[in-house]
Amino acid sequence: MGNIAEDFLIAAEIKAFETDHRRIINNNIDKYDAAFDKGISRMANLEHAKKKGHSIKWKVMENLDKFLPEFEANFQKRGGKVIWANDAEEANREILNIIQKANAKTVIKSKSMATEEIHLNEFLEKHEIESLESDLGEYIVQLLGQKPYHIVTPAMHLSKEDIAKLFNERFGSPIDSTPEQLTQKAREILREKYMQADVGITGANFLVADTGSICITENEGNARLTTSFPKIHIAVVGIEKMIPSIADLDLFWPMLSTHGTGQNLTVYNTILSGPRQPNETDGPEEMYVVLLDNGRTNLLAQKDQRQGLYCIRCGACLNVCPVYKNIGGHTYDTTYSGPIGSVITPHMRGMEEFKHLSFASSLCGKCTEVCPVKIDIHKMLLLNRRDAVNEGLPAMKEKWGWAGWKKGMLKRSLTDFFSGKTKNWLMRTFFKKSWGHYKEMPEVAPKSFSQQWKDQHKQGE
Ligand code: SF4
Repeated sequence: MGNIAEDFLIAAEIKAFETDHRRIINNNIDKYDAAFDKGISRMANLEHAKKKGHSIKWKVMENLDKFLPEFEANFQKRGGKVIWANDAEEANREILNIIQKANAKTVIKSKSMATEEIHLNEFLEKHEIESLESDLGEYIVQLLGQKPYHIVTPAMHLSKEDIAKLFNERFGSPIDSTPEQLTQKAREILREKYMQADVGITGANFLVADTGSICITENEGNARLTTSFPKIHIAVVGIEKMIPSIADLDLFWPMLSTHGTGQNLTVYNTILSGPRQPNETDGPEEMYVVLLDNGRTNLLAQKDQRQGLYCIRCGACLNVCPVYKNIGGHTYDTTYSGPIGSVITPHMRGMEEFKHLSFASSLCGKCTEVCPVKIDIHKMLLLNRRDAVNEGLPAMKEKWGWAGWKKGMLKRSLTDFFSGKTKNWLMRTFFKKSWGHYKEMPEVAPKSFSQQWKDQHKQGE
């Protein structure tokens, strides 16, 4: 077992017994559940919408080689520039080039998991460029020096009191500030920053091939400010975010908002199709889209697990997952946590280091049930386990254990060779640790069924 897997198990055990953490996250997820139930009850034919979403995303992934150039050509027509980045290093280097060429020193950002994935903030800081998050949740976790806890609600693990305490320490706001007062304080600080920032960096929820546009969904309006105040706008977007046509937003926008937050539609939905045009009053002078691969084509090459790329990052599978609800988002130590993170991370970052995530599941199937694009998430986890075995990655002890078990099970004399007592001793000695010390080991009966059958027949004679 590698260190990443060991660290995961240790962190999971600690987190699972932190009662405060459980209280806060359960409270926040309960609120989400109520909003989600209300949100989906308003959808006329949810099952049909999910199937449609799945088939559109299927078409995109099977034809990504055509949709990406189509997007690029259309985006360029209106003066946008497209940058293709194979990995985090390429993406960061290209972004830094743009910033340095413009002699820029400050960047304002809106929420983007793709930029988390490439560790853009840390990279820019190293090059003495201030990069400030403007989404309230992201801003809070940035102040704390943490990573987002959840792909939709980055500060889900914090209570109102935690945030009031943070703002009191950092900005001297009253310790009993209300959420409105805290938001107001953040707003005051951030408004100033929009005016100063030379470059705005965002992600995007969708790339639209037929119009060459990016779409950003948000509730705070900060992404609109990020994309309109600074002279340069850079959007970092995973290549899987593609949808064929602007007409498809009719389906994907409400599906994302109902499953993400329970809203019919999020408050601000923006379509950007290039920099400011000569007849327009706002918008940046330059606009770039960084099309990020960073392991996505590895997943695309997996015929069985390719559908992991259909994900629209609504976060619904995280909110229903019994494992996520107990161990929390930070424990995974990956950009994408929860069930979908466990599916895609081993392909994007390496099966050997991240195969353990495929086991961080009860396989209850709730993730699959809620997914708005019908990704067969729990089956994907099983397929990842299969791949790990086929690649010979399980630990030697596990391989020997299964080989011995198979040999024994195929021959009756071998199965009955050891007494029940010896079998129990062997199991306790070799498998107790992997079985888990909170679970009781199963007890093997003193005699096997076949031995008992023979004994009873002898008595009957
Ligand atoms: S896998 Fe499905 S439920 Fe999970 S975040 Fe992606 S779209 Fe949402």
